[in-house]
Amino acid sequence: MTNNGDTPVRVRFAPSPTGQLHLGGLRTALFDWLWARRTDGQFILRIEDTDRRRFDPESLESLMRGLKWLGLDWDEGPDIGGPFAPYVQSERQEIYREKAHSLIELGHAYRCFCTPEQLESMRDEQRRSGKPTGYDRRCRNLTEDEIQERMDKGLPYAIRFAVPLEGVTVFNDLLRGEIAVENRDLRDEILLKADGMPTYHLAAMVDDHLMQITHVLRGEEWLSTAPIHKRIVDAFGWDMPVLVHLPVILDPSGKGKMSKRKKQVAGKEFLALVHEFESAGYLPDAMFNFLTNVGWNYDPDQEVFSREEAIAKFQLNEINPSAAALPYEKLDWLNGLYIRSLTPAALKAALLPFLSRQLGMSSAELNAGGKLDILIPVIQERIKRLDEAASWLDWAFLDSDQMCYDNPKLLIGRKLDAAKSAELLRAGALLLGRVQPFSGDTIQEEFRAKAEEFGVKAGSFFGPIRGAISGKKVSPPLFESIEALGREEAVQRIERAASILEEQFAEVET
Ligand code: GLU
Repeated sequence: MTNNGDTPVRVRFAPSPTGQLHLGGLRTALFDWLWARRTDGQFILRIEDTDRRRFDPESLESLMRGLKWLGLDWDEGPDIGGPFAPYVQSERQEIYREKAHSLIELGHAYRCFCTPEQLESMRDEQRRSGKPTGYDRRCRNLTEDEIQERMDKGLPYAIRFAVPLEGVTVFNDLLRGEIAVENRDLRDEILLKADGMPTYHLAAMVDDHLMQITHVLRGEEWLSTAPIHKRIVDAFGWDMPVLVHLPVILDPSGKGKMSKRKKQVAGKEFLALVHEFESAGYLPDAMFNFLTNVGWNYDPDQEVFSREEAIAKFQLNEINPSAAALPYEKLDWLNGLYIRSLTPAALKAALLPFLSRQLGMSSAELNAGGKLDILIPVIQERIKRLDEAASWLDWAFLDSDQMCYDNPKLLIGRKLDAAKSAELLRAGALLLGRVQPFSGDTIQEEFRAKAEEFGVKAGSFFGPIRGAISGKKVSPPLFESIEALGREEAVQRIERAASILEEQFAEVET
């Protein structure tokens, strides 16, 4: 049965809170969300926290924050509840216990009294004799009396699934078609551990059924568990949801699976965690656009599209099952594009937290004097990430005596010597002291006239001025920079720079 988007679906994102949300997880959630929104269905957030050893209390916060950052809102979940609450598996233990026992009744599961030590020595023995390791089913054939005797002694037990020993298990993956696996290759997996906690296999199947999940989207790494899941679902007599195993995202080298850590390749840093992308200044809209095209393609002839356009077109069966490396350069390109599409006011609002953090100033301090209102529009074209703005703008927030001209070459104009450059700087300071009005355009006009008057190329004059104003070789456009700085500060900087040069050649002469 194919659903082209006309039947409402119920999909779930079911992360285990064992660490920070990474891009692969976010992509799964995004595809869930797109499919739910496309079909007018529901997107459910379920927390699979039954592995208490790997539980990380900060992880839940990071997961929710990451989803919200991208704008993926859920219709049911731990924080908002819903008709199938609770949505946190550790709060549903009673349900799993009951379901595991019902499988014993149905003859599809059995009690396993093996202790961890017994299992360990079984594995040692298997290794020694060169056999594949795995549970040898020694408790599967215990008699009623043997079971009763152990229970009377109060021995703890796990519940294991009894897979059929012969035949094949056939299941379907929407992207890969029918897949058949020999039952002799399956194991009697644990469903309920001796401590009463379910394993993923049991909890996920029970919840997908009870929560009426129609489509399961999950990473390709779960494909190998699909046969056992099919058997469990069959044993209960339930319907299998549509399985969609999403292609693995490869690291930038294209060789391994993208890890949860950032990676250095050829001196360049590649991010992996969602919060890292957020704090590097990728815009949620750009990331949304980018990730939607990782494994699916909106349209080969249209790279940029809105959320609404993506929702209207998204199709599960068009996902490409082959693994692919993340095209990081495309993300930067897209982000630059989205940055340029913001209004100056929106860009300023987005930049303030970055500048505040990176320059150690409050928003009020950054806003004082209206410098940002002049400079942000002129750097808008030049940045691809919000965290790049600080190095374009830091000079504007220093006091003139904090300016460090440790490379006096910056103050020397092309084809000029230090004395001539100092003379030009002095002339520039004088001019800035009286130019009216103090606006980028007028300053530019007067500076060009002055260069002509001195008989030097405009660039040779502007170079030292730029050096004096920003302390850098590359800065935002010079005349807006001067205007942003304001008359007094600009004049002071240029005079200080002139003095530095004058001291230098005075030293050389003595
Ligand atoms: N809890 C699993 C995980 O952490 C979810 C797998 C699934 O979606 O079924 O990835």
